[in-house]
Amino acid sequence: MLQLEHLMKTYKVGDTITHALNDVTINFRNHEFVAILGPSGSGKTTLLNVIGGLDHYDSGDIIINGKSTKNFTQTDWDAYRNNTVGFIFQSYNLIPHLSIIENVELGMTLSGVDSKERHEKAIAALKKVGLGEHIYKKPNQLSGGQMQRVAIARAIANDPDILLCDEPTGALDTKTSKDIMKIIKELSKDKLVIMVTHNPELADEYASRIVHFQDGKILSDSDPYTPPKDVKDTFHLKKTKMSYWNALKLSFTNIMTKKGQTFLTAFASSIGIIGIAIVLALSHGFQKQIDETQTKTLAQFPISISQTATDLSANSNREKSNNKNVKYRGYLTAAIPDNEKNTHQNHITQAYLNYIKKINPAYANNISFIRGTQLNLLSNNDGKISKVEFSNTNNSQNSLASAQLQSMNTMGINTNVFPTTLDSKKNSFLKTNYQLLEGKWPKASTDVVLVLNNKDEANLNALTNLGLKVKDGQKIDLSKLIGKKFKLVTNNDYYQKLSTGTYVPKTPDQAMYNSASTTITLAGVIRSKNNSQMALLDNGIAYSDNLTKKIINQNKNSEIVQAQKNSNLNVLTNQPLANSQKEQLLASLGGSSLPSSILIYPTSFDSKDKILSYLDKWNKGKKSSAKIIYTDMSGTVTQLTGGVLSGITTVLVAFAGISLITSMIMIGILTYTSVLERTKEIGILKALGARKRDITRVFDAETFILGAFSGVLGIFIAYLLTFPISAIIYNMTDMPNVAQLDWLQAIILVVIATILTMIGGHLPAKMAAKRDAAEALRSE
Ligand code: ADP
Ligand code: MG
Repeated sequence: MLQLEHLMKTYKVGDTITHALNDVTINFRNHEFVAILGPSGSGKTTLLNVIGGLDHYDSGDIIINGKSTKNFTQTDWDAYRNNTVGFIFQSYNLIPHLSIIENVELGMTLSGVDSKERHEKAIAALKKVGLGEHIYKKPNQLSGGQMQRVAIARAIANDPDILLCDEPTGALDTKTSKDIMKIIKELSKDKLVIMVTHNPELADEYASRIVHFQDGKILSDSDPYTPPKDVKDTFHLKKTKMSYWNALKLSFTNIMTKKGQTFLTAFASSIGIIGIAIVLALSHGFQKQIDETQTKTLAQFPISISQTATDLSANSNREKSNNKNVKYRGYLTAAIPDNEKNTHQNHITQAYLNYIKKINPAYANNISFIRGTQLNLLSNNDGKISKVEFSNTNNSQNSLASAQLQSMNTMGINTNVFPTTLDSKKNSFLKTNYQLLEGKWPKASTDVVLVLNNKDEANLNALTNLGLKVKDGQKIDLSKLIGKKFKLVTNNDYYQKLSTGTYVPKTPDQAMYNSASTTITLAGVIRSKNNSQMALLDNGIAYSDNLTKKIINQNKNSEIVQAQKNSNLNVLTNQPLANSQKEQLLASLGGSSLPSSILIYPTSFDSKDKILSYLDKWNKGKKSSAKIIYTDMSGTVTQLTGGVLSGITTVLVAFAGISLITSMIMIGILTYTSVLERTKEIGILKALGARKRDITRVFDAETFILGAFSGVLGIFIAYLLTFPISAIIYNMTDMPNVAQLDWLQAIILVVIATILTMIGGHLPAKMAAKRDAAEALRSE
C-alpha cells in the first residue's frame, strides 16, 4: 500500500519557480490500475519519478507498506527502486548494446541475483508479455510494440509491488496500444499500477481508477481510497550491489558495439606506450652492447702498474699553454724533455701487493702479476738434451738484460702466465675463458698448457722451443704433444761462474737433465671460448703463476742471485746496470718475489673508476718518490658508459611519458564523451536501482578494458617494431639485435597504462554517477 502525504516538489530555473507537485495527498490500494490524466506540464512525470524514487520530494511524505521514506538514505532509495518499483517509459529506454534478455536481466544483475535464476525469471517475464522468441536480438531489431513489451518484462522481472508507467502507449498505434494495455491490466491484478496517459479513451477502457491532475494538484479522483487507521510496517528492502564482474561484462558489451571507435582510441592512446617500450628496448639492447664493449675494451686496456711509469699529472699544467707561442724574449731556456721529467719509478713492495690483493673481486675480473721470471727448462728428444725457452714474444733469443721488459712494451697483455691468485676455484680463469681441445686441465703447478688461436694455430716458435722440428703450415697431431715432459733446472745447476766473475748458462747435457728435480708436463691444449672477452693468454705455452712462485722459491738464494744482489754490474755481461734494470734482472733470475708489473682488468668502466680511486688512496700523504703511479690505458678510449645511456634513456622515457599522459587525458575526454552519450543508460541503470558506486564501476570497468587493451596493443606493436628497428641499426652499425623488449618491463608498462587510463577516466565516471537520474531520463 502506497500513501502520498502533502507532497511538494518545486523546480527553480533562474527566476522561474515551477510547483511541479503542489501538496499532493493520495492513497493507493495494493492491487489496482490507476490512470493519471492531465495536460502537458501538469507534473505527472514528476509525480511518477518521485513515487519511483528517481526524484525526491521537497516536503511531505511517501509511506510504503506503513514505512515512511522521510529518513531514507541514498542506498535505501537505490534498493527501493530496484525491488519495490518497476518503470515503464514512453520511449522504452532499453539499453541498445544489450540483447533483449540482457536488458530484462539487468535489474536482477544489479541486485546480485545469480545468473541461472536471473535467466529463468527473465524468460518467465518475457513469456508473460508474449515474447518467447527474439530474446537474443538487440532492441533495434524489434518493433515499437515489441520493445515496449521488453520494457514491461524488464519492469516486472524482479517482481516489484508497484509498476509506474509514463505514457507507455504514447508512441504506439491504436492496435498495439490496446495490446500493451491488456498486458498492463493483467499485471494490475497483483500489483499497483500507476499509469500516466494522454488518452482518456484508453484510461476509460482499461483503468479501474482515474485521477485528473493539473498544475501539480489532484483535480478529481474516480475511486478514492481511505486506508485503515494504523498500518503496520511490513516494508522490507533487499540492498543492491553490482559485482565488478558484472560491471566488466556490461562495459565489455558496450565496447563491443563500437569496435572501430574503441580500436582507434586504444591505438591512439597506445602510442605513448609504444614510445616508452621502444626507448626501453633500445636502451636494454645498447646497455648489453656497452657492457660487452666495456669488458672487451678493458680486457685490451687494463690498468697497469709497472716499474717505470709516466706521471701524466706532472704534464697537466704545461699542457694548457702548449698551443700558444710565447712572446719571443730573445733567449732560450734549457729544459729536460717532458717524457724524462715525468718518468716515475714505482717501487712495488709487499705491502702494496697486499693492498692490491684486497681489491674487491667484483670490480676486477682478474689481476695479473708479471714477475718476468726466467724458466730454466730442458727437453729430452730421444736423448738429445736442449734448452726450452718459454719466451713471451716471438723473440726467442735469450737476452736476459732486457728480460721480460717487452712484456710491458705494448699494451701489456703479452703474458703467458695465467693467474691462480684471485681464483677461488682452481683454474676457474682458464675454464671460464677457454675450452680444452685435448688432454687435461692443468692441476699441479708444474702442469702447463699450449694455447692455440681461434684458427687452431700454434706459434711456430713455441713449437720449435718445445723441441719439435716443424715447418710453417705443418699439421701436428695434438696427442703427440700431450704429456710431453720437461725438466726445470735450478740456477745453481744451470749457470756456471767463469774466472772473470761473470755467470753463463752451461751447455745442457744429460747430467744437467738428471740433476733437475722438477718435471714440467704439457697437460693439455686449449683455445679461447667463442666471444670470451677475457681470453688474455698469448698463443703459445702458458703456465700458472704458482709455477713462477715455485721457481722463485728455488732460486731466491741461488749463487747467481746472491752475486747479482751484491753487484752493480750485470753478472751475465759485466756491463753496468741502472737501478731499475738491476731489479728486473734479479726478478728474471728468480731473485725477487715481487712482481715487475701488475695488470688489473676491471669489470666495467664504473668499477674501473672505483679501482682507480682505491689506488689513488694508497698515494695519499706519501712522498712523491714513494707514490705508485698506474697507467690507465683505457682512459683514452671514448667512454659511452651506462651512466650516459641511462641519462639519455631517462630523457627519452620522459618524452614518451608525456605522450602517455596525453593519452591519459584523451581517455578522460573520451570517457566524458561516453558519459554524455550514455546519459540515458545511466538514467536507466539508476531507475533499475543502480547505486552511484555501480555507475562509477561501470565506467571504471570500461576505462580498465580500454587501458589494458591499449597497453597490450602498444606492447604488441612495439614488439613488432623491434624487428625492423634492429635490422636498421644492424645495417648502420653492425650491432645485432639492439632493440630487445624486456618482458618484465612490458608487463609493468601495461599495468602503468591501465592505471593511468583508469585515473584519466575516473573523474568523468564520478561525474556520471552524480548525474540526476530523473533529468537523465528526461533527456532525449
Ligand atoms: P508532465 O509530465 O505532466 O508533462 P512534468 O512533470 O514533466 O509534467 O513537468 C512539470 C513541470 O515541472 C513542468 O513545468 C516542467 O517544465 C517542470 N520541470 C520538470 N523537470 C524539471 C527540471 N528538472 N527542472 C526545471 N523544471 C522542471
Ligand atoms: Mg511527462
